[in-house]
Amino acid sequence: MVDRVSDIEPELLKRWGIQGIVLDLDNTIVPWHTADLSDGVAAWVARLRADGILFCLLTNNYGRQAAEVADILSMNIIKGALKPSPPAFRKALAALGTPASASVVIGDQLFTDVLGGKLTGMRAVLVRPIGRKEFPTTALLRMLEEPIVAWLRRNEGAKA
Ligand SMILES: [Mg+2]
Repeated sequence: MVDRVSDIEPELLKRWGIQGIVLDLDNTIVPWHTADLSDGVAAWVARLRADGILFCLLTNNYGRQAAEVADILSMNIIKGALKPSPPAFRKALAALGTPASASVVIGDQLFTDVLGGKLTGMRAVLVRPIGRKEFPTTALLRMLEEPIVAWLRRNEGAKA
């Protein structure tokens, strides 16, 4: 768990042997349903690309702004993914051409991004959502997610 994607250090990904990143869009790198990349995202992507790491965007969103972000970052994108359903994650891995064991999912939701990644054998990093604005059904998932994330944070604190 990290606060923002740019907190994910290249050294950590190297240690994990990561070659490919499946990256969520809304509330992970842009505020919900916008194409406004958060500060530091473009530089973080460039830094990891310099290490040879590949990216694929994976989003349940199918709006125009999703394609815009993909364009800005020159990334493959899989839209309307129905996360956490595994087929979309397998499609993302196929697009990356990296094995699940050398790939990581990065996203802001436990029950879509992290769960789907884990179901397909990937590592996962949970980031804090950029904003509170999101899809109405997401608000329901957040109610289930919050106590678990709070528990995970306490647990991580204990390990540190
Ligand atoms: Mg998201």
